[in-house]
Amino acid sequence: MSKQVTIYCASSPKVPQIYFDAAEELSRLLIESGYAIRYGGGAKGLMGIIADTALKYRGTITGVIPGFMIDVEWEHKGVTEMIHVKTMHQRKELLIENTDAVIALPGGTGTLEELFEVMSWKKLGRFPHPIVLLNTNNYYDSLIEMCNRMVKESFMRPQHESIWSVVSKPSEVIPAILGAKPWGPQVINFASV
Ligand code: AMP
Repeated sequence: MSKQVTIYCASSPKVPQIYFDAAEELSRLLIESGYAIRYGGGAKGLMGIIADTALKYRGTITGVIPGFMIDVEWEHKGVTEMIHVKTMHQRKELLIENTDAVIALPGGTGTLEELFEVMSWKKLGRFPHPIVLLNTNNYYDSLIEMCNRMVKESFMRPQHESIWSVVSKPSEVIPAILGAKPWGPQVINFASV
């Protein structure tokens, strides 16, 4: 069975080049390592470069996009498969259905919404797979600090720190996926939440 990863990332085409370079490298590495990619279906920004690069290296990339975004012509026209859905909620559900890992690249509110939803679902035992933050250019430093504070001040338990992992370089993403700590009932222990 093929391996699949879900990528959350920026839709903005105006972000500095360093973010495009990292997204491009990551997409290439994933495809070269035999991963199929699922993403939000956009044509621009980091979403666009992820898709264009996956196609350039003859990989499989599937977009999941709601109708209102198609109406404003945000969808990528060349991906392997584009799944059209009605709502943002359906989109988020399909984005992580049957996936083996989630990778969050730098992004705006949309990316953070998607990332925090899947982190929360994992905390509640609804999603067992690795979640990796690619912290290009230290973009996520303050967010990571916030998450660490959640643990320090007991808004989360210490074992929740293994919900996510953080890497700096695209080449560290696949090792982080493969080396992620197992997550399941034996770790979660709801009784003491
Ligand atoms: P952001 O990180 O705010 O750029 O959001 C990325 C996510 O926002 C995507 O998964 C979409 O939910 C949505 N989004 C916002 N703008 C676009 C766009 N132009 N094309 C596709 N998706 C977009």
